[in-house]
Amino acid sequence: MAAAVSAASAVCAAVQAGLDQYRAITKDDRSPVTIADFASQAVVARALRAALGDDLILVGEESSSFLRDPAHGAHLRAALEVLRAGAWPGVTAEALFEAIDVGGAEPRRGDDPRGFFTLDPIDGTKGFLRGGQYAVALAYIRAGRPELAAMGCPNLSPDPTVGFDAAAAGCVFVGARGTGRVVQSPLGASCGRGGGELLVTPASRAAFAGARAHPVLAESVESAHSDQSASALIMRDLDAAYGLVRLDSQCKYAVVARGQADVYLRLPSKRGYVERIWDHAAGALIAEEAGCVVTDVEGRPLEFGHGRGLEANRGVVVAPPALHARLIESIRAHRPPNA
Ligand code: AMP
Ligand code: MG
Repeated sequence: MAAAVSAASAVCAAVQAGLDQYRAITKDDRSPVTIADFASQAVVARALRAALGDDLILVGEESSSFLRDPAHGAHLRAALEVLRAGAWPGVTAEALFEAIDVGGAEPRRGDDPRGFFTLDPIDGTKGFLRGGQYAVALAYIRAGRPELAAMGCPNLSPDPTVGFDAAAAGCVFVGARGTGRVVQSPLGASCGRGGGELLVTPASRAAFAGARAHPVLAESVESAHSDQSASALIMRDLDAAYGLVRLDSQCKYAVVARGQADVYLRLPSKRGYVERIWDHAAGALIAEEAGCVVTDVEGRPLEFGHGRGLEANRGVVVAPPALHARLIESIRAHRPPNA
């Protein structure tokens, strides 16, 4: 999983490095994310298929229909070019379509003891397009719970003392349920293995976060994805001098996991919006193994066994246990309108 996610992260980073060039080729502002999305899903799907064969059940965000449309030939050519330059030298259009569609499986329900993988090939597309944070997020879910996670964050520095704007080599987080630790490795030549590994544990998180006088909130850059005025009210309840960092993608879970922030709030901003499993499965496991509590705004555990959506949940609250309990109380008192 880590190697697949690292390879896909490298593909995304290559596309992000040439944003204007890709926009020019396809005459479409969003084309870089489209190209990288498909290439990323193909790389992960191909690697998992090679390892697991027909046993693989992969629920990916993308399907090949867009690239198969002759009107999108320029996108297809660009995706093939990016892959041929690195992750998949001999790839043909047919092989690319086939690999993307390996991710077309249906999720298994929570009462099915067999597991499945879910992939967000690029989470945080807005961040990707503005040269900010994004993530390649892969999780293995069984009985409605994430059991394994690998998350690549190509623009997140492996050094948690560094801010979020500096050009970074990026890192990949790998976790398994019940281990009480997450392995953070730098992205790059090591492909997620070998030198520079850092263990994120409940103790390392607490030690790093404990050096701060005031809690730090991590939330979406996009106000359409989380009610930022409600989160301000709730954080002020906690500590009027709280700090704030706005980041795209589920790298927010990793940022809280390693103690760089204390709280991740995702407060419903649109009535009826249902969160997608691939937007949360990997991140949630990573935060939990670092000793955080991950629930929805009512304090219910996230349930990944209801299909593609987190149908039983609204919003997300992530924090260490004592802080989490206070946040849920405060949310209850303020009752955000769309919860
Ligand atoms: P973030 O980068 O944390 O802002 O989240 C990006 C994700 O938000 C995307 O992958 C979308 O699937 C998801 N999203 C889209 N619309 C909404 C919404 N109204 N509320 C919450 N999340 C959304
Ligand atoms: Mg996403």
